[in-house]
Amino acid sequence: MQLNSRTFERHAELNDIVDRETRTRMMAGIRGKDTRPELIVRSGLHKRGYRFSLHRRDLPGSPDIVLPKFHTAIFVHGCFWHRHEGCRYATVPRTRPEFWALKFEQNKARDALARAELVASGWHVDVIWECELKIGGEKRIEQQCDLLDDRLQQLRKGSLLPRGTQYRR
Ligand SMILES: [Zn+2]
Repeated sequence: MQLNSRTFERHAELNDIVDRETRTRMMAGIRGKDTRPELIVRSGLHKRGYRFSLHRRDLPGSPDIVLPKFHTAIFVHGCFWHRHEGCRYATVPRTRPEFWALKFEQNKARDALARAELVASGWHVDVIWECELKIGGEKRIEQQCDLLDDRLQQLRKGSLLPRGTQYRR
């Protein structure tokens, strides 16, 4: 009897954990702030000596990470909410298909508008997808952060100038 009830408790516990995690992930996605992938990118940039500000509400789309020196806005996108094309995480829930279709369209439109507005005012926009940090463990994370580092260094060298920049010699 005791064993049964303990097994039951463990199952209940597990269900609760899974639920909680899913819930947290969904809430983080909705809020779009301080998600785990975002924390990974922040710490990767910090380790490489970059200075940045977070969630700049004065900029279109409130970019997750902003590097003023590089005139670069970085979005760390969850694949589900931001509809990473062809990605295994961009699943479609089976229930309420119309609700989700509308929601996803709105999200995509909002992202596209923010990007267009940023680019129009001379910002570079970089997008890092959740799956790029999720699959492949620590090694992959370091690779992705190195790639971002490379892109930023290219900007510094001036090989990729922000649009609208007047470059004087
Ligand atoms: Zn993805």
